[in-house]
Amino acid sequence: MEILDGNAVSSDLLNSLADRVETYGEDKPCVAFIRVGEDPASISYVRKKEKTAARIGIQSRLKTFPESISQVALLDEISLLNSDSSVHGILVQAPLPAHIDECVIFNHVNPNKDVDGFNAKNLGLLCQEDEKAFVSCTPAGIIELVKRAGVDTQGKHVVVIGRSLIVGKPVGMLFLQKKLTGNATVTYCHSRTPDLAFHTKQADILVAAIGRPNFVTKPMIKSGAIIIDVGINRIADETRKSGFRLVGDVAFNEVAPEASFITPVPGGVGPMTVAMLMSNTVKAYEQSLKKHPTQ
Ligand code: NAD
Repeated sequence: MEILDGNAVSSDLLNSLADRVETYGEDKPCVAFIRVGEDPASISYVRKKEKTAARIGIQSRLKTFPESISQVALLDEISLLNSDSSVHGILVQAPLPAHIDECVIFNHVNPNKDVDGFNAKNLGLLCQEDEKAFVSCTPAGIIELVKRAGVDTQGKHVVVIGRSLIVGKPVGMLFLQKKLTGNATVTYCHSRTPDLAFHTKQADILVAAIGRPNFVTKPMIKSGAIIIDVGINRIADETRKSGFRLVGDVAFNEVAPEASFITPVPGGVGPMTVAMLMSNTVKAYEQSLKKHPTQ
């Protein structure tokens, strides 16, 4: 069994991005983060993204709003960033409060600045396999990990547990693409799938994006499978200062010995998500230069 080390791969990616950003001189890419409310996980994710951006020379701006912000007011804030030529990327940290329709918000982000890849236009471009698409960061990070491990996905059976817009749906689309790290046969499973283990046991590559701690157990997998654990779940742990620790959707200790490759939590898919966000920001910046070459 080999660990797919997201820390190592993302660090490699970030170093090459830092070199690329360095060549831009004074002019730097800039990403704006929007955070609504005080959800501790969202605060920590955005902080991590800000720190990583600073580390590789990308500028960032943080706009925070109270949980009570109306959808209209949030749309107005996004409009301001859409028309600000010094901002190349916009990320609205999910989840948003229940009174706000996430898809309305995601679709309002200028598709050219949609570094999260949740806008309908980018999801459409992804389906069309258009290189210009901004691909959502977690699925893109998963593909990068699998690619760097030298896995040939052609003809493999990928089973995705989860059908969210953020992870499940796009990761399946990527494995389906008619190119390298694609050409797989993809099965989607979700909360209404009967006899889940029947499907997961057939997976050459199993992607677990559920949000339930230690949900995937040894009897659910095929020996030698590649296991991608997307889940980030906080479970109580009195031995930690924080009072909790992070575990994935996969029961790592029992599944890992059966797997050929596995992503740990933390240190697997998580760091890749942040690295791909930086990569998308650089891409947005470079595309903006092509549109406005005198900048
Ligand atoms: P989500 O809640 O939107 O989707 C969860 C999916 O799991 C749903 O499609 C649902 O149908 C499926 N599901 C729920 N219970 C099930 C069951 N009993 N059997 C089969 N399927 C079931 O979540 P999401 O946004 O896709 O995130 C999933 C997990 O990944 C969460 O733990 C989240 O924190 C984590 N996540 C991690 C990263 C990262 O960078 N590592 C990024 C995004 C999300």
